[in-house]
Amino acid sequence: MTESQTEKYGFLIDMDGVLYRGADLLPGAGEFVRELRVREIPFRFLTNNSQRTRRDVIAKLARMGIEAEEEHVFTSAMATARFLAEQKPDGTAFVIGEGGLLTALHQHGYAVVDHDPDYVVVGEGRTFNLELVETAVRMIMGGAKLIATNLDPNCPTANGSLRPGCGAMVAMLEIATGVKAFSVGKPSPVMMRAARKELGLSTDETTMIGDTMETDILGGVQLGFHTVLVLSGGTRREDLQKYAYRPGVVVQNLADFSDLMNRHDWGNPWQHTSAFAPLPVAVG
Ligand SMILES: [Mg+2]
Repeated sequence: MTESQTEKYGFLIDMDGVLYRGADLLPGAGEFVRELRVREIPFRFLTNNSQRTRRDVIAKLARMGIEAEEEHVFTSAMATARFLAEQKPDGTAFVIGEGGLLTALHQHGYAVVDHDPDYVVVGEGRTFNLELVETAVRMIMGGAKLIATNLDPNCPTANGSLRPGCGAMVAMLEIATGVKAFSVGKPSPVMMRAARKELGLSTDETTMIGDTMETDILGGVQLGFHTVLVLSGGTRREDLQKYAYRPGVVVQNLADFSDLMNRHDWGNPWQHTSAFAPLPVAVG
């Protein structure tokens, strides 16, 4: 065993645009996760999508050939439920969202109500309609706090187009009420820090891998994590010029990142800056 292998490190891995896109597995995703498991390198899948439960996520990954356990999944729904349980134990919530969010809230001692809630909680889903919005607006004006699982403006769909994300729905409530939502998902430190604690690692031992500058990379940079941007999702290399922050490393996909990791036999990649030398670390 080389010295570097004794160094602790682990990964927070975004899913959409990193592991898969729609129903298609992205290059190197299966192999990367398998390698982490075999080598017992800690990791969590970190997703802002609050629609699915942990079990749903594992089932989706299994269909694509990625084997993982429920403990490997950390969603914005879980982060939101945990956060609310800390802020106000045994509270009540009016929910605009789906199974993942409802399950997480129940698991953290929350009652889902349609009358006089402590919080209005908004996640992704297809249940959104004007009747719900009207009810939510009334509750917020009556003093309920507005919570968003995330503020992603849109989400990629299987056919390559976009659908409105949680952020778009939250914006409607914000404008109607004049109340700003508190968002828990990436890049919020609430979710990023909770995920890092799940790994059992320190800031410097944690690497965030993602495809979105506004969430994955921004959150990672703000928390002081190492960051890896994959170009297999929504970001193109030429986009990087417009951001005031940059990822530590840019790779095409997880297959490329695995090649890098292989060069140092999967030792802590940040101990070997030379491992990343051939890569365009800075752009523009
Ligand atoms: Mg993504």
